[in-house]
Amino acid sequence: MADSPRSIEKFIRSHLAGFAGYSASTSPETLSGRVEVPLASIIKLDANENPYGCSPKVLRALADCHYFHIYPDDGQGELRELLAGYTGVDAECIVASGGSNQLIDLIVRLFVDKGDQVINCVPTFDIYRFSTEICGGTLINVTRDDNFAIDVKAVKAAVSSKTKLIFLANPNSPTGNIIPQRDILEIIDDGIPVVVDEAYYEFSGETVVPLVSKYHNLMVLRTFSKWAGLAGLRVGYGIFPPRIADRLMAVKMPYNVSVAAIIAVRESMSDLDYLRDRVKAIIAERERLFSELKKLPWLQPFPSQANFIFCTVLKGSAPELHQKLQNKGILIRYFNKPLLRNGIRISAGKPEDTDALVRTVRELEA
Ligand code: PMP
Repeated sequence: MADSPRSIEKFIRSHLAGFAGYSASTSPETLSGRVEVPLASIIKLDANENPYGCSPKVLRALADCHYFHIYPDDGQGELRELLAGYTGVDAECIVASGGSNQLIDLIVRLFVDKGDQVINCVPTFDIYRFSTEICGGTLINVTRDDNFAIDVKAVKAAVSSKTKLIFLANPNSPTGNIIPQRDILEIIDDGIPVVVDEAYYEFSGETVVPLVSKYHNLMVLRTFSKWAGLAGLRVGYGIFPPRIADRLMAVKMPYNVSVAAIIAVRESMSDLDYLRDRVKAIIAERERLFSELKKLPWLQPFPSQANFIFCTVLKGSAPELHQKLQNKGILIRYFNKPLLRNGIRISAGKPEDTDALVRTVRELEA
């Protein structure tokens, strides 16, 4: 006899029965009929994507590819060599993935058992919480200070016999600030596995990759989503001590990086000057966006080393501002969590995107 749909609940892992998931950015196609502009004119400043897109060489090579029906190399041979060349480490230290989110999940699955603890410097990138909770780990949240700097003493004090991982986003998302290298070193020195997430490295220029060969407990994550304009193809990677890389290769899903993503990395690596010029343009726009936002008395923008600016909305509500801008076809991210203090995050776009944003915000003010 068929049971009621609710009876399936008893088979679902109990801690996931009411799990709320991750709140991802809005896809423009879901906004059809809900915005005052044609979908094609939507200005997307909510997910730190690259407004210039990928290298044209990627587009050409994908159009010419004749082997999408064949699985990619599960051992990531060419990919690991290419990324070793880009980062200056040995290929055995590299593991690639379908976006760096997938590596975060894989790392948590490798290290964290039910009841183990993960130290998270909040407010920060929410996927660390997401993956830890799915694995049944316990988050130990260590709050950042008023300028979103990490509290090194508090992080060290939070370490217990159950601590399996410490996550450090550098620059942090959504706040954009950098962790001084001496703070990272102090935390690594305790011997607990530390993940330094450098998703925005190409914009900040700050990295601890050269330290991976010196510490058995340091892992560094990178992505092609932001600087290389490949968010839609999903490709990220990490630099690991060989022992950890070996274990991650063993537990990853087979063929976890697509043929298309491998081609895209190959072509991006052969067009670095082009991509670096775009990164420079985005950095220049970040600085202009910051100075424009600073002129608004009801917004407090924070300096950023990434490709976005975080602001506290001092007067009015962040969700309302987000909604009003969305109605006008401009997407930004908002946060109504207490630690993010009625905040918004705006990606650095093209100069015309900044102009449209500032013009629209001023019209809303009037
Ligand atoms: N880390 C941080 C800090 C991020 O902001 C993001 C993107 N939102 C990622 C990792 C994940 O990037 P992807 O999965 O696209 O590589």
